[in-house]
Amino acid sequence: MARKLWAKRGLAALATGTMAVSLAACGGGGAGAGGGGGGAGDGEEGGLVGVAMPTQTYERWIADGDAVKTGLEEAGYDVDLQFAGDDIPTQQQQIDAMINKGAEALIIASIDGTALGSQLDAAAAADIPVISYDRLIRDSENVDFYVTFDNYEVGVQQGTSLLTGLGILDENGEEAADAPEGPFNVELFAGSPDDNNAGFFFEGAMSVLQPYLDDKTLVVPSEQTDFGTVAIQRWEQEGAQERMENLLTSTYTKGDQTIDGVLAPADVLSRGIITALKNSGYGKGDQDMPIITGQDAEAASAKLIVDGDQYSTIFKDTRLLAEQAVVAATSFLEGETPEANDTETYDNGELVVPSYLLPTVIVTEDNLEAELVESGYLTEEEVASGQVDE
Ligand code: BGC
Repeated sequence: MARKLWAKRGLAALATGTMAVSLAACGGGGAGAGGGGGGAGDGEEGGLVGVAMPTQTYERWIADGDAVKTGLEEAGYDVDLQFAGDDIPTQQQQIDAMINKGAEALIIASIDGTALGSQLDAAAAADIPVISYDRLIRDSENVDFYVTFDNYEVGVQQGTSLLTGLGILDENGEEAADAPEGPFNVELFAGSPDDNNAGFFFEGAMSVLQPYLDDKTLVVPSEQTDFGTVAIQRWEQEGAQERMENLLTSTYTKGDQTIDGVLAPADVLSRGIITALKNSGYGKGDQDMPIITGQDAEAASAKLIVDGDQYSTIFKDTRLLAEQAVVAATSFLEGETPEANDTETYDNGELVVPSYLLPTVIVTEDNLEAELVESGYLTEEEVASGQVDE
């Protein structure tokens, strides 16, 4: 499978205005190749696809890895799926090994989006198309496609749900008629600075929160509001717990000042924040838990939402993302160009990477059953236990 071949064919397809692959053509079973072939390579044996995921510590990446693997196998490919334990050299070595093993396409969710330049150079030299999965790989011209969610909108939804939880906005996201005056004490958290998504989430959230900070409906008593200060390296739960503990000690021991809301960009961080808050007496007696946001709809956090400890999460259906990754890989391997629905947003420093963005949904206790359980994303038991069944 020569890269030049697919590149040329892709260009030809674009030049004649034909849509290389459409989702509809891939059908309900998803993951099928475009062009009606169904299997890999129009009946030929499918080759090897390397799938590099960042970590197995959090539920979401395990679900992503499993779904991508299954989809590729159903489409007839062999899969080398690796998790890197959030260790950058490990991920680099895993990708090098995939290239050496003859992978014909790579699907990569990076740990540090700027650390894979030499791997991507090697992939390009071997004519291997690279699909950036969920997180944009930066500073390399050798990223061929990006499948992700609308990351800015995720942030907007996080900011909106914080305001809804505080009663400032109603359930439609409009100013609530009976909105309490405030001021509300909130603290802000952001994700890992080396993850391109983290900035999008934070900017999206701040676009919604800033007017309320400006008019003092919201106050940040710690005064820590810039991305660099509130970011949690490598999205570590312990890092978020530690920062929340420090905030509680530095800022919330005076008088009766309590914290009303926390902008948390991911469930894993929300859990660390909740632990710190509970350890210091929140959620007991008359000290209510603050409104806490999240992201990923992980079972452990779905349970916390049902238990009333976390207010919201953002549901990103990883089944659909995996399907898009498979569609993109299959498309490249068939000499075509995957369909992008965004060709403007994701500049990785070297090029604007053609992207396919998926929508996301705010989930609170009110719609958790409908969105997560009825859609088959989590079972009733998983929500009740907070653990994913093997
Ligand atoms: C993903 C989030 C996830 C976070 C931590 C981000 O890149 O988009 O869904 O919560 O990484 O794993």
